[in-house]
Amino acid sequence: MEQRIKGTTRLLCLIGTPVGHSGSPAMHNFAFRYHGLDCAYLAFDIKEEQAPEAMKALKLLNAQGFNVTMPCKNIVAQNVDEISPEAEVIGACNTVVNENGKWKGYITDGSGFVLNLREHGVEVKDKKIVICGAGGAATAIQVQCAFEGAKSITIFNGNDPFLDRAKGTAAKLAEKTPDCKVTVHCLDEKEAFVAAVNDADIFINGTSVGMKPNEDKTIIEDTSLFRKDLVVCDVVYNPTETRMMREAKAAGCEKVIGGEGMLLWQGAVAYKLWTGKDFPVKEYQAFKAQQ
Ligand code: NAD
Repeated sequence: MEQRIKGTTRLLCLIGTPVGHSGSPAMHNFAFRYHGLDCAYLAFDIKEEQAPEAMKALKLLNAQGFNVTMPCKNIVAQNVDEISPEAEVIGACNTVVNENGKWKGYITDGSGFVLNLREHGVEVKDKKIVICGAGGAATAIQVQCAFEGAKSITIFNGNDPFLDRAKGTAAKLAEKTPDCKVTVHCLDEKEAFVAAVNDADIFINGTSVGMKPNEDKTIIEDTSLFRKDLVVCDVVYNPTETRMMREAKAAGCEKVIGGEGMLLWQGAVAYKLWTGKDFPVKEYQAFKAQQ
C-alpha cells in the first residue's frame, strides 16, 4: 500500500458509523491496485449530524467520491448537489461521485441486487415480484426493479413503521413507473400472501429475518409455497445461506440466491461510477477465497 500512495493519490472513502467492520476498503483498494489506479480508500466514523460537514471537507480535499452507510444515507441525499432518479425516490444515497467539483448522489443497493440476479441468469424485466420488507435494502430493490421494468411488485411488511414507508414508495412509483403495478399488504394478510407468492416469478426476503443471531427464523414458514420455478432471493448475507434459502433448495427451487452477491455487486456498481471501469469481480472472489 505505502508504495502506491503518492502526492497525486485521490481519496475515496466510506462515511457512517460504525465502519470498522466494513469490507469496502479491502474491496476497492484491491481493485485500484488491480487496475493500477492512483486512488486509495479509507473509512471514517461519521455520525449523522456530522455528515454535511464531512461532505464539505471531502470536497475541499477533492476526494473522488465516497460511500455512505447507516445512519448517514438520508442526510447525505439531502446535501448532494445532484441526485439520481432512483436515489431521489428512495431519499437515500450510498454512493457519491465528484463530478467536476459537484457531489452527485446514487444508490447502488438496488442495481447490485439486479446485477446479482443477472449473474444467476434471472432478469427482473416483465417479472411478477413479491418482496417482504420496506426498510433500506427492500426499498432500494423495489425502486430499482420498478425502474428496470418489473411487471408488478407486491410488498408485504409487518405492522410496524416501515409499512407506511412501503405505502409512500408505492405512491411515488405509481407516478414514476406507472407500468409497474405496486401494491402493499400487511404480512398478517395470510391469504393475500399465499395468493401473491403462488402467482409470483420472484420472491425476495428484504427483511432482516434470518440474520444472525436469529438464523433459526424464516419469513416463509409454509415451505409448500416453494415451487421449482419460483426464484427465491434473500438480502441477508450473514449467514451466507439462511434457513429460508436452505428450505427453498430442499423443496426443489432451482434458483435460490443469497445476499452476499448483492453486497459485492453494489460495490462493483459504485466502483464503476467512480472509475468508469468494471470491478474485477472474479479476481476479487478468488483473492478472498485465499484469505
Ligand atoms: P431496516 O432496518 O432498514 O429494515 C428492516 C426491515 O425488516 C423492515 O421492513 C422491518 O419491517 C423488517 N423486519 C424486521 N424484523 C422483522 C420481523 N421479525 N418480522 C417481519 N419483518 C421484520 O434494515 P435494512 O438495512 O433494510 O437491512 C435488512 C437486511 O438486509 C439486513 O439483514 C441487512 O444486513 C441486509 N442488507 C443486505 C444488503 C446486501 O447488499 N445484501 C444491503 C443492505 C442490507
